[in-house]
Amino acid sequence: MAKLQEIPGPAYMVDTGGLGLPQYCAAFLLPHPDEDELAIVETGPSVNADTIFDAIHTIGYDPRDVTQILPTHIHLDHAGATWRLLDACPNAQAIIHEKGAPYLTDPEKVDKLLASVERAVGTERFHEYGTFEPLREHDIETVTGGETIHIAGREMELIDAPGHAPHQYNVHDIEHNLVYTGDAAGIKTPNGPLLMTTPPPAFDLEAWHGTLDRLDALEAETLALTHFGTVDASEHLPAFREGLETWTARIQKQHEEGTTFEETVKRLMDAYDEARAIYDEETFRFETRMNAQGVWLWLDRN
Ligand SMILES: [Zn+2]
Repeated sequence: MAKLQEIPGPAYMVDTGGLGLPQYCAAFLLPHPDEDELAIVETGPSVNADTIFDAIHTIGYDPRDVTQILPTHIHLDHAGATWRLLDACPNAQAIIHEKGAPYLTDPEKVDKLLASVERAVGTERFHEYGTFEPLREHDIETVTGGETIHIAGREMELIDAPGHAPHQYNVHDIEHNLVYTGDAAGIKTPNGPLLMTTPPPAFDLEAWHGTLDRLDALEAETLALTHFGTVDASEHLPAFREGLETWTARIQKQHEEGTTFEETVKRLMDAYDEARAIYDEETFRFETRMNAQGVWLWLDRN
């Protein structure tokens, strides 16, 4: 039985169980109000694709009804199951940011993407993401953000959303004033703390502020966070912007004072101790190191 929750639209949030954590990695099913048509925002990792197929059946649809698949960016907890969904859904197209598309279609770049994930997460945890088969060019449509598209009977505005990664877009459901934010508004699991997600290699604080300015300008009511669930936009966005400032400033201070990277990670784990509410110790260390690394590299570049 798929774990489903209805959100405004109406749409359905699926708990993919991705990365081995409950209520951490969402995918969203958007049924057409009048027709047998379904769009999917975010896919979770490929190893968890069956949770999405279960959910499609649970809400009374069939993979043949799926018309669009919208992973907000190419990281495998967001786009990993795209190839499995395209395989099973003959009428679907994937909508991919043009800056990320080559990494999902060109076999050599797919290998590079998988190798970089394995390097980042370690061989031990790599299986949690699963593999990725290159997508066929004719199965995808590339976008830059700024487009207005019609999916599943809704008018959706795509928002260019760099900062976390340059190949990210967000999806604004105009009528229901809800934005699917991918990783652009951080991580906030039910009852969990607000956490940053600033991974290497392309975290960019200035670009992220631009994204938050664009999100603020929408005056959205609700954000649907991939990690995990819906939040009130007017409360969440300022809190997230402040959290991002504090997190990067903290790392910048260590960087400027000549603290070693390892010592910085230790200090961050002390300062962000509340993350233990959702992560086990190993995951907490891994997440802290990865997100500190993104900021560290950005500071080295600037
Ligand atoms: Zn990501």
